[in-house]
Amino acid sequence: MLDLHDSALVRDQLFIGGGWRPSVGGGRFDVVDPSDGSRIATIADATRADAVAAIEAASAAWAGWRGRTAKERAAVLLELHRLILHHADDLARIVTAEMGKPLREAKGEILSGADYVQWYAEEGKRAYGEVIPSHVASMRLVVIKQPVGVSVAITPWNFPFSTIARKVAPALAAGCPVVVKPAEDTPLSGLALAELASRAGVPDGIFNVVTSFDPVEVGHELTTNPLVRKVSFTGSTEVGRLLMRQSADTIKKGSFELGGNAPFIVFDDADLDLALAGTMVSKYRNGGQTCICANRVFVQNTIIDEFAERLAAAARSLSVGPGDDDATDIGPLINPDAFAKVNRLVDDAVDRGAVVRTGGRPHSLGGTFYEPTVLTHVRPEWSIANEEIFGPVATLFSFDDEADVIEQANATPYGLAAYLYTRDNGRVWRVGEALEYGMVGINTGVFMTEVAPFGGIKQSGIGHEGGHEGLAEFLESKYLAIGIG
Ligand code: ADP
Repeated sequence: MLDLHDSALVRDQLFIGGGWRPSVGGGRFDVVDPSDGSRIATIADATRADAVAAIEAASAAWAGWRGRTAKERAAVLLELHRLILHHADDLARIVTAEMGKPLREAKGEILSGADYVQWYAEEGKRAYGEVIPSHVASMRLVVIKQPVGVSVAITPWNFPFSTIARKVAPALAAGCPVVVKPAEDTPLSGLALAELASRAGVPDGIFNVVTSFDPVEVGHELTTNPLVRKVSFTGSTEVGRLLMRQSADTIKKGSFELGGNAPFIVFDDADLDLALAGTMVSKYRNGGQTCICANRVFVQNTIIDEFAERLAAAARSLSVGPGDDDATDIGPLINPDAFAKVNRLVDDAVDRGAVVRTGGRPHSLGGTFYEPTVLTHVRPEWSIANEEIFGPVATLFSFDDEADVIEQANATPYGLAAYLYTRDNGRVWRVGEALEYGMVGINTGVFMTEVAPFGGIKQSGIGHEGGHEGLAEFLESKYLAIGIG
C-alpha cells in the first residue's frame, strides 16, 4: 500500500462529469508495482458505456468552459499548477509505485507536468487570430481561433503523469473538455491529476478519466464517437496507425506522438566527456523506456573503442533496484512483455555476433530488472537496430564520415528524435538539417521543455506538444468574411 501525505490522491473509480463512480459493468482490475509485482490498488475497469458517459459529460460541459475568458481559465489552471507542486512528493510516489522509475526521476516528471500546466495557463491568453487585408473594398476578412471541442487523450505508461498534463493543459487552456484514457499499467497518476483538477475548480465534465484494462473497446468508442472532435495519442506507431484509421470515418483532428528509433551521433571532434554524459542520460533515463531514447549510438570509427570502453564503465556504475530506493538509477522494466522483448533483442544480437561490453542479461534481482548493457559490433539489419529497445541497452555502430552517418541514421521509417555531438559549427548545421527527425539535440542529451514543440515526422507522428504549436492543436481557425456595404 502507498504511504502518502494525502491518501485521497489514490483513487479507484472513474472520474466522469465531476464525480467518482464505478464502471457500468462493475468490473475492476489490479494495478501492480513492477518492482515486486505487489498490488497497489484495484480500480474500476471502464466499458464502452462508461466511455460514452464521459464523452457526453464532456460535450454537455463544453459550452460553459469555452464561454469563460482565457483569463478565467488561466486562473483555474494556475491553481492546478499550485496544487501539483504542493503534492509533488505524493504524486512522484504514485508514479514510482505504478511505473517503477527512480523517485527523483518521478519528481522530475511531476515538475515537468506542472510546467506545462503553468505555461499553457498563460499561452491560452494568446490564441490570437488575424486580420487579413481585404481583396475588395467592400469586405473585411478576419480569422478567429476557437476551441476544437471534445478532446480525447490516450496516453502511455512510461510518463504516466506528464504525458497527460502535456495534453490536458493546452486542451483546457484552449477551452476544450477532455476525456483521458491512461495506460492500463499506470492509471493511478491520471486519476490523481483528476482529483487535483477537481480541487482546483475545473468544472464538472471538463476533465474526465476512464481507466480500462483492455483498451480496445473503450479506445474504439473514444475514436469513433461523433461528439469527439480531436484525438491526441502518445504510444506505439502500431496503435497510432489503428487509432488514426478508426478516427478517419468521423474526420477527427489528431495529434500522434509515436515510436522512435533515435540515432545518437558522436563525431571524433566532439567533447567526449559531454557526449558520454549525454549518452548516459539519453539512453539510461527511465531505464531506457522513452520514445526519444538513443536507440542507435553511432560513433566515428576513430574513437569508437575508447568511447565504448568509457560508456561500458559508466553503465556498469549504475545502480539497479526498486525506484523507491534512493540509490537506484535504473528501476524495473514495466512488465514481463517489455522484459521479454529486451531479452529477445539482446539475445538475437549476441547470437549474431554482437560483443557485450557490459551487461547483456537479466539482473540478479530477478523480476523484470535488466542489467545496464552496452553492445558493440552491432549491424544495422538486426532487429535490435530496427525496433525500439525500450530498455537499458546501448548499441554502438561505427561510421566513417558525415555522409555515411547521415545515410545510416535516416535509414528507418521513424523520425522522432536524433542527437548530434560535434564542435564543428558547419557540421552542426549540415548534419542537423540533413537528419530526418522532428527534434535534434545538438551537444545535449536533454531537450524537452514546455516552451518548444515536441513531435515527430515520418512514422513517428503528426502534430506537436509544447510551445504555441501545442495550443494550436486544440484550436480551429474560423474565417469571418464581413461585407460592409
Ligand atoms: P506502449 O508501447 O507504450 O505500451 P501502446 O501504443 O500499446 O504503447 O499504448 C499506448 C496507449 O494506447 C495506452 O493507453 C494503451 O492502453 C492504448 N491502446 C493500446 N491499444 C489500443 C487500442 N486498440 N485502442 C485504443 N487504445 C489503445
